[in-house]
Amino acid sequence: MPPLSRRLFIGKMGLGACGSLFTGINIVDANVSKKSPQLIPTKKLNIALCGLGNYAGMLAEGLASSQYCRLAGIVTGHPEKARQWQKDYSIETNSIYNYENFDSIQHNPSIDLVYVVLPNGMHKEFVIRAAKAGKHVITEKPMATSVKDCLEMIEACNKYNVQLAVGYRLHFEPYHLEIKRLGQEKVFGQVRFIEGSLGYKTYDTNLPPDSKFNRFAPSEWRLCKSKSGGGPLMDLGIYCIQSSRYVLGEEPISVTAQFGTINNSVRFAEVEESISWQLRFPSGAIANGTTSYGFNIDRFFASADDGFFELSPGLSYGPFQGKTSKGDLVFPTINQQATQLDEIGKLILQNKPLPKHITGEEGIKDIRIIEAIYKSASTGKAIQIFQ
Ligand code: NDP
Repeated sequence: MPPLSRRLFIGKMGLGACGSLFTGINIVDANVSKKSPQLIPTKKLNIALCGLGNYAGMLAEGLASSQYCRLAGIVTGHPEKARQWQKDYSIETNSIYNYENFDSIQHNPSIDLVYVVLPNGMHKEFVIRAAKAGKHVITEKPMATSVKDCLEMIEACNKYNVQLAVGYRLHFEPYHLEIKRLGQEKVFGQVRFIEGSLGYKTYDTNLPPDSKFNRFAPSEWRLCKSKSGGGPLMDLGIYCIQSSRYVLGEEPISVTAQFGTINNSVRFAEVEESISWQLRFPSGAIANGTTSYGFNIDRFFASADDGFFELSPGLSYGPFQGKTSKGDLVFPTINQQATQLDEIGKLILQNKPLPKHITGEEGIKDIRIIEAIYKSASTGKAIQIFQ
């Protein structure tokens, strides 16, 4: 085949990814649904957000523009927040819960699914309580703070016959669907090396405490190990691990890792400030990852036998920019939260199983790798996994 012109190449790539956005998980798109009207969900999936912090706010915005889901309930520890959210989103009074009376949600037929957006250390408890109440669950990433907890969550959801998803927003994002295709279909040949890094600066000791650069208060749960399970690796590094796995379509067989420098020992007394790791895959590919709460970085790069592809910015909320050795990648910027919710919502409304790559079975793999990374960084030894 003659080499593609840059323009043609981009056009072809755009079509490929737009197609895979809707065909990859076997759901009904607008054209198909005209032919098969019985498959169009006739109601919206009623979602309760559990924990009304920053990310719940973004999910609420996504829900506002969602085609298949609606914000129907809230779970919060703060009555004043409950009042404000009720007003802003027209929530029924009997669909407002706190953490103590949450279990009574089982008697509420107006809620189909609970979306857990709590600190990581609380995911397990609320996923299991939601499952016991007979509600489907999405839990935010990381799925939990240990493999043991993930197993209990999966077991509970199986036992109570509800679906469990992990809030992996990038699994529905066009640039990421495309890098997954480029890697797995070996469009540039076998990928040999990946670099994925995501970090942001959370403090600046030279600035006053209320500076916009001091993102975290000293009391921030992300800095407290029992609430977070770890530092930026749990929070941000998970995206680097995820992308290297889905671009290669393989699971790592060994891990080495190193903690980075601690420049702020007051804030980082319990969790790492930065950490780097190397994953070795069965094909021989290596994925280097770095994450930090001490500096800004946001990119993905893959070097393959016949070229490269990269996203920079690449792992955050975007807007992403993509480049390959044959030209730029150009895709629409989407609302990541609305798209994720719609894709999950449509499947649940049709009573179809969620694809494995967004369920607890996927979530637990990342936690297994994260545990191996921490173990390697602590012991200085290579850790074998998935063999
Ligand atoms: P926030 O600190 O902004 O919000 C957490 C909320 O949890 C609080 O507002 C509070 O809600 C509730 N909460 C209950 N108990 C506690 C407690 N002991 N300490 C602190 N909060 C408590 O966190 P985020 O919204 O940023 O993160 C929540 C989850 O979402 C995390 O698991 C995180 O990893 C994930 N996340 C995912 C993102 C993504 O892109 N997919 C992006 C950002 C976060 P209330 O006052 O209503 O009780």
